[in-house]
Amino acid sequence: MKPLTRQQTTRLRHLLDQREAATRTALAREGAQRSNESFSELATPVGDEGERASAQQAMDENLAMTAHLVRELGAVAQARVRLDVGKYGVCVDCHRDISFPRLLACPTAQRCEHCQTIHDRTYGQESHPSM
Ligand SMILES: [Zn+2]
Repeated sequence: MKPLTRQQTTRLRHLLDQREAATRTALAREGAQRSNESFSELATPVGDEGERASAQQAMDENLAMTAHLVRELGAVAQARVRLDVGKYGVCVDCHRDISFPRLLACPTAQRCEHCQTIHDRTYGQESHPSM
């Protein structure tokens, strides 16, 4: 494999920093939103079946979003570790290089486009936010 140039690595590290900052901001916002909601309308024990269901759904969506953001932070941290140990940009499945444009679009990518397509088809599309 040909290693990424220092310039490319610097750019990708910068992208990871940006992504982490954006994710932390979103996570803080989710947390603030949830504590506001849950103590007012969401946790209100009265209300008909439909209201309770929609309150439950709102909480589920919040939790799903929070879980997604936490996974995203984990993905950024893992990408940094891969950068540090020199394994960044190598597909975990076929061990070929992940193209630089793909890394720019998705700096936390662990698979090349080919293997990602197979993976998505096998396990469904999760945790790959489009940018
Ligand atoms: Zn691959």
